[in-house]
Amino acid sequence: MDTLLMEEIRDAARRIATERLKPRAVETDRERTFPWENMKALGDAGFHRLIVSEQEGGLGLGRNAFASVVAELAKACASTALVHVSSAVVSKAIELGAGDDTRKKLLPEMTGGRSLGAFAVHEPDSGSNAGAITTRAIKEDGHYVINGTKFFITSAGEADLYLVLVRTNPEKGAQGMSTLLVEKDAPGLSFGRPEDKMGLTSTSSRELFFSDCRVPADNLVGKEGEGMQIIGKTIVGWGFFGAAAISLGIAKSATELAIEHAKKRMIAGHPIGAHQAVQFMIADMVLKTDAAESFLYASASNADSAPGFAAINGFKAKLFASEAAVETANLAIQILAGHGYCRDYVVERLFRDARGLTLHFKTSEWLRQDIAKAALGL
Ligand SMILES: Cc1cc2nc3c(=O)[nH]c(=O)nc-3n(C[C@H](O)[C@H](O)[C@H](O)COP(=O)(O)OP(=O)(O)OC[C@H]3O[C@@H](n4cnc5c(N)ncnc54)[C@H](O)[C@@H]3O)c2cc1C
Repeated sequence: MDTLLMEEIRDAARRIATERLKPRAVETDRERTFPWENMKALGDAGFHRLIVSEQEGGLGLGRNAFASVVAELAKACASTALVHVSSAVVSKAIELGAGDDTRKKLLPEMTGGRSLGAFAVHEPDSGSNAGAITTRAIKEDGHYVINGTKFFITSAGEADLYLVLVRTNPEKGAQGMSTLLVEKDAPGLSFGRPEDKMGLTSTSSRELFFSDCRVPADNLVGKEGEGMQIIGKTIVGWGFFGAAAISLGIAKSATELAIEHAKKRMIAGHPIGAHQAVQFMIADMVLKTDAAESFLYASASNADSAPGFAAINGFKAKLFASEAAVETANLAIQILAGHGYCRDYVVERLFRDARGLTLHFKTSEWLRQDIAKAALGL
């Protein structure tokens, strides 16, 4: 993608974020309203086709460019950015693995902003270990019949299309898993109550219950048994960079708000930013944010040039950026002090949102283990 076009896309993202997402972010967080208006604004501007290839009607952005757009959105509203990333990876899965007819039917709906996607891997008893899922799909009469429960699924009940990891052949372990597309109105699919989360409150996290849920066999993404590969090429291969970018957006917002406050807040005739104690906090925030940014873009570029190493690069970028986001948002609260502890100021939302990013996709503990195992060659 040429640099000029990329600059235009990033500028457009910044404009939508500032003019459309930011003014609504306080209210959608408080009211826990799903950010449909934001998703529509993004759809109208063509943002639902960012990472779909040009042959399939997308813009064909790489991970680096995608991350820079997501970070702009997240600076204004992390919930909207998460809903966006969760849908983008489903588009990618359709592009990479759906059969011709299914792809031609579903992908234009998604890239055109008329259909929203969500991914459903996690289950009540699987944690971050996708290999431990038990949701079962059995093929019969040209359909898959799905039974099981998915847990804590972003956009659940709102999204039109779900990319669901299932077991099609339990005897084969990881090679016996598959990914299926399930439409919201599929018979046998129902949703749990919205989780009452501390942050990312407008993302609608709910359970998915599959009770003899029937989907056409054509809804298989990839071949039977390739579920983990599809997850690897989409949620892992792209989603982790999205999660890192959301974290970066939060860290940037927290740092900017703290600096602004440190300049304006006068105590006994002096701005609080004149105190070395406050300056040290600001220095730490600037360093962490800059480091997260450089590391994210370096990791994303590595993955763009060597997609076979996307997973480990995404794990590192997400772990570092999500922890930087928590640390900077925490310091921002310290600098805003009493104000920062109140809901009227944005930094407490940033902290609550950042906290979710150290859990979602894979927890920090899992990521540390994965990174260490890769380093040790285990
Ligand atoms: C905001 C948010 C949005 C989400 N959206 C989605 C979504 O759209 N789709 C989806 O599929 N899932 C989603 N999830 C679920 C998410 O993937 C899981 O919450 C995450 O994988 C952790 O699983 P758990 O919550 O069951 O934690 P648990 O697995 O119960 O972990 C509890 C603690 O034990 C540690 N732990 C557990 N097992 C190990 C181990 N083997 N080694 C070391 N430490 C371990 C964990 O690190 C953690 O500290 C979302 C979660 C959040 C918070």
